[in-house]
Amino acid sequence: MTDSIIVQKFGGTSVGSIDRIRAVAEQVIKTKEHGHSVVVVVSAMSGETNRLQVLANQVDTLPSSRELDVLLSAGEQVSMSLLAMTLQKLGHDAVSLTGWQAGIQTDEKHAQARIIGINTDAINQQLQLGKIVIVAGFQGITEQGNISTLGRGGSDTTAVTLAGYLGAKECQIYTDVDGVYSCDPRVVTAARKLDTIGFQDMIDMAKYGAKVLHLPCVEFAEQHNLPIRVLSSFSPLQGTLVKAQESSGGVVGVALRRNLMQITSNNETIDKLVAQCNEQELEVFRVLSKDQSGVVVSQVDLAKLMQVIHEEAVHIDDVCSVSLIGRSNLSSIQALEALLAEDDIEIVSHSLCERHTMMLLAPEYLDKAANIIHDVYVDQNELLSVSKRRVS
Ligand code: ADP
Ligand code: ASP
Ligand code: MG
Repeated sequence: MTDSIIVQKFGGTSVGSIDRIRAVAEQVIKTKEHGHSVVVVVSAMSGETNRLQVLANQVDTLPSSRELDVLLSAGEQVSMSLLAMTLQKLGHDAVSLTGWQAGIQTDEKHAQARIIGINTDAINQQLQLGKIVIVAGFQGITEQGNISTLGRGGSDTTAVTLAGYLGAKECQIYTDVDGVYSCDPRVVTAARKLDTIGFQDMIDMAKYGAKVLHLPCVEFAEQHNLPIRVLSSFSPLQGTLVKAQESSGGVVGVALRRNLMQITSNNETIDKLVAQCNEQELEVFRVLSKDQSGVVVSQVDLAKLMQVIHEEAVHIDDVCSVSLIGRSNLSSIQALEALLAEDDIEIVSHSLCERHTMMLLAPEYLDKAANIIHDVYVDQNELLSVSKRRVS
């Protein structure tokens, strides 16, 4: 074993076919041949976790959370073994480990479990034998011995947390874009790739929808000052380094979230709903809408809340959010409302704080609104600061 461990995580698209798994194997071998010990974390093949979720919902809209985790964790077990077989076929010693075999201990909260510790003995033993170790992302084991999952997108958190516990030299997250952008590049083609981004800015981007990194992995990285490199598994470009650095002080980017539900009602009902969300540890945002109190929850969580909501008392709408991330004295909600109104887009509600402005819209307007806001608040802001820098 060498003394430098590199953790590499490959997402669903990166292991989406046997050809893609072979490309991943070649990338892993290259790293090993540079003299590193390599621990690989894999997601399920693209589409697989969704497929399993649909099967579960054909049985029950709210299946047992323990059994759902048993089911959803199966996807990663397929990709980890296929990658191990591919590496072996290419002449390299490799072994795959499930979350529990890899010593990943979580709390008891199925579907949103937090890693509370990792016993790295099994991984270290395999590394000492010179093997490439492949670990199933997104899963662990609870203290009571049940399989748990870390929330959608959770393989990033497996990788970053493992890198911390193993004392790895670097944690590389390989995905289907070549880094973190100022907005989802699939929606805003003018979005710019960031060479670096500070932990706090990345936490804000992830929290409000930039799913390129799973929020808990960035929180862990910040707490342990562990840089994360986000790279494309399709092209060997430099990517983005997420690291300790001062916040830019201005607008960082625009984050987008789909599949949200806005619930509006009187203050008393909304207070009860918020209490219910807190009790069930569901994510909830309070929003200001024109004449009523409102909260926004994810579509997935709505089914859990419907057990306690009296439908007659509330109004429920499909919404999505566009959030301007970072400090900006430009981002007054009136200015944003006027800007979007030029294109007949209505902001149905919003939430403001020092570090973000979140706007809720009807889903069909998301892409257009994202492009307009990015153009005015990111692109033109950047042009302004570049010309200011030139003048000074
Ligand atoms: P993986 O399966 O590799 O984990 P994800 O689908 O979870 O990949 O995350 C990558 C996707 O995140 C990209 O394809 C992109 O559409 C989306 N994304 C959203 N916001 C951003 C952003 N600010 N920068 C880069 N990608 C983003
Ligand atoms: N397979 C899980 C998901 O699709 C975890 C992950 O990909 O990170 O959410
Ligand atoms: Mg992901």
